[in-house]
Amino acid sequence: MSWDFETDAEYQKLLDWADEFVRTKVEPMDYVYKNPYDKSDKDAVAALKPLQKEVKEKGLWACHLGPDLGGPGYGQVKLALLNEILGRSNWAPIVFGCQAPDSGNAEILAHYATDDQKKRYLQPLLDGEIHSCYSMTEPQAGADPALFETKAVRDGDGWVLSGEKWFSSNAPYSEFFIVMAVTDTEKSTYHGQSMFIVPKETPGVEIIRSTGAGPDPSHQSHSYIRYNDVRLPFDALLGDEGGAFAIAQTRLGGGRIHHAMRTIAQCRKAFDLMCERALSRRTRNGKLADLQMTQQKIADSWIEFEQFRLLVLRTAWKIDKYQDYMKVRKDIAGVKVAMAKVYHDIVQRSMQLHGALGISGEMPFSEMMIAAQVMGIADGPTEVHQITVAKQVLRDYEAGDERWPSAHIPTRTAEARKLLGVDK
Ligand SMILES: Cc1cc2nc3c(=O)[nH]c(=O)nc-3n(C[C@H](O)[C@H](O)[C@H](O)COP(=O)(O)OP(=O)(O)OC[C@H]3O[C@@H](n4cnc5c(N)ncnc54)[C@H](O)[C@@H]3O)c2cc1C
Repeated sequence: MSWDFETDAEYQKLLDWADEFVRTKVEPMDYVYKNPYDKSDKDAVAALKPLQKEVKEKGLWACHLGPDLGGPGYGQVKLALLNEILGRSNWAPIVFGCQAPDSGNAEILAHYATDDQKKRYLQPLLDGEIHSCYSMTEPQAGADPALFETKAVRDGDGWVLSGEKWFSSNAPYSEFFIVMAVTDTEKSTYHGQSMFIVPKETPGVEIIRSTGAGPDPSHQSHSYIRYNDVRLPFDALLGDEGGAFAIAQTRLGGGRIHHAMRTIAQCRKAFDLMCERALSRRTRNGKLADLQMTQQKIADSWIEFEQFRLLVLRTAWKIDKYQDYMKVRKDIAGVKVAMAKVYHDIVQRSMQLHGALGISGEMPFSEMMIAAQVMGIADGPTEVHQITVAKQVLRDYEAGDERWPSAHIPTRTAEARKLLGVDK
């Protein structure tokens, strides 16, 4: 019997340390400094470095990675438990060396890069010295990679990359971009596209503009990029020619579950605020907490939150068990769908209980509402993941009789009577 919902005592001590450290030293960074990826903010970098040092000394640096890459190799369940602390703060993932999109990019570099590529790009990424960008979505096509147009063609001693990408997060702060491009129009999406590593300073890389998610201009880091006949050496190819789709699946599988782990933290934050408000605010009939409609909001939120958290943890456990994202596609897609909805619903209820204050810029809810919406779009929209869940689920079923379903009572009764010999 091996079901167990407890954290081992040694790791719990580390989690307790992380909890206190994030609350007292990292969350204050969110109120003072803006973009954690912007290394031009010298004050922020100066405040960040000693925190990163403390995390490294504690052995909690880059927990998404195995020991061969400088991480402790805790696996996804332990990472989930840590991420549900780190997700409270914008700065915490960078302080702990596991921020998106660098974590996912490091994962595919570790899997697919050559030794030279690892030395040049992976090591400084793991050391937290540089940032990276993943450049896949195009202005005319996001959810459906079959519609991507950016292409790379062989020319002389290398490749020529041309096309446009959109919503390439962190491009302004990145040293290099991982770009997906069509390399063989004769082949399907699954085998006709390849990944390239493109240093930001390569001639022809043009950041047209950067946009944000929501109205806050301090987060305008999702870039519209034009690749103007960018010349790349042959060794800019990441992995096999035609292998981009498989690489993208590896990357996005990990990225989605890590977002979900951090989203647990945001849901909990909104839920805690909801409970605090319910107990603090009064109407003539007593506290908000005494009103049944408030109690319903709290009960629904708690149940949805606990279901979501268990789904994330079980998915993390399955990843650790199978070590193969393809075997947990359904679970990850399910988590991805649940994440956006649970996050949205809990934030919405908490925001509602805070009245005017809730919708004002003096509370974090409007930013959280946008973040919840982002979770339903980034890394593929909810609908696409619902399709994945349904298709995977249906693989385990077979069609029955066209007319009478398998639970058709007269049919089953006739069969049962025959079996039991009562059909006289
Ligand atoms: C904050 C943020 C950060 C991002 N960062 C990156 C990044 O770093 N790199 C990168 O490459 N991309 C990034 N993206 C882009 C993201 O991956 C795409 O937005 C996403 O894949 C959806 O593509 P789209 O925006 O073109 O929407 P579309 O493909 O145009 O879809 C629009 C809507 O149509 C509906 N829809 C689409 N397809 C289907 C379907 N099959 N069935 C039913 N309904 C459907 C859905 O409602 C969907 O939301 C980011 C996006 C956000 C919001």
